[in-house]
Amino acid sequence: MFPSEVTDFFSAQKTPFYYYDLDVLNATLKEIKKHGLSKGYHVHFALKANNQPKILTLIKKAGLGADCVSGGEVQRAIDIGFSANEIVFAGVGKSNDEIELGLKHDIFCFNCESPQELEVLNELAGKQGKTARIALRLNPDVEADTHRYITTGLNENKFGINASDLDEVLDRIPELKNLKLIGIHFHIGSQIENFTPFEVLCDRANMLNDHIENRGFKISVINVGGGFGINYAHPNDNSIPDFKRFFGLFEDNIKLKDHQQLHFELGRSVVGQCGSLITRVLFTKYGESKNFAIVDAGMTELIRPALYQAAHRIDVLTSAKRNKNYDVVGPICESSDTFRTDISIPEVERGDLIAIRSAGAYGEVMRSAYNLREANATVYSDEIE
Ligand SMILES: *Cc1c(COP(=O)(O)O)cnc(C)c1O
Repeated sequence: MFPSEVTDFFSAQKTPFYYYDLDVLNATLKEIKKHGLSKGYHVHFALKANNQPKILTLIKKAGLGADCVSGGEVQRAIDIGFSANEIVFAGVGKSNDEIELGLKHDIFCFNCESPQELEVLNELAGKQGKTARIALRLNPDVEADTHRYITTGLNENKFGINASDLDEVLDRIPELKNLKLIGIHFHIGSQIENFTPFEVLCDRANMLNDHIENRGFKISVINVGGGFGINYAHPNDNSIPDFKRFFGLFEDNIKLKDHQQLHFELGRSVVGQCGSLITRVLFTKYGESKNFAIVDAGMTELIRPALYQAAHRIDVLTSAKRNKNYDVVGPICESSDTFRTDISIPEVERGDLIAIRSAGAYGEVMRSAYNLREANATVYSDEIE
């Protein structure tokens, strides 16, 4: 878990804070290089999972590109030094300002999600005298077998262009003179641990690739998005997702034509396991049927349990007492501000330190100031002697 010098360091810090283990991040990046980049695949890191400059800098150094879903993320990627030709920009609702920012920097590709977006992008590119490279985000209608709030590839979903609209869009594209269709893009959801949806995705992608090429378009980019899950229950034994199997699945199932390259957009699987939210027990409350450990972090620092019923592993760092069952809850005035219910952990008392694990993705990026909460601090492993 954490060596004693790290726990000692934590003990002297004001809580709550996010802690990032850069050794875990670097080991993860090494696996992505070994099994993905080395095959010539392009991997764009989804900034929405984590946008800490220090983390982005390491990811950029490892040779990944950037996947952005807002103008703010495009700007952050540029500021960190990602080269514009490694930046892709998705999102169902891009504002004019955001599109213009992407055009100004001549980013690699806009992943377009609706017929109307194509019209607007064409018009704005014309005004800047530019040609925008685009990929069509297609809705493969794949059930991702994940929480309903994070499945994105079904027809009933707000994301992407439905297959039934594709031919009409393809008819229109040659008339949109300021756009160049360079690829197709998919993203079926997040925290996908079962590999079957990815196999189904490959079949749909192959079919749509053939269809579009048969219509006379030459596309060079097949972008299969992200969504690869991490092991929230056992972060110590599974600190690095099985990238060999993940990239291997696509290698075996995606049929690339000679002029085509395979692109990925990974978020959670890159940064999820390197982060922990460190918090202190403020109070304990023992009831007739329930015990509460009330900690100083809340849904304002980590909203995943409240938003997606996510269960993060909880490690008690400063107690070796016998186990007791607790609801571990935050201080925010919402009943959903609960990290775990009825879990067995060593008995804690006021002041004990707790680590909420696997919090590197969709953790700190979603923090809010609700209840006028003070912003948390951030600690990196290389700051500890
Ligand atoms: C969120 C997102 C990703 C990354 O998803 P992960 O589950 O974190 O890998 C990739 N592509 C798009 C378009 C996204 O919105």
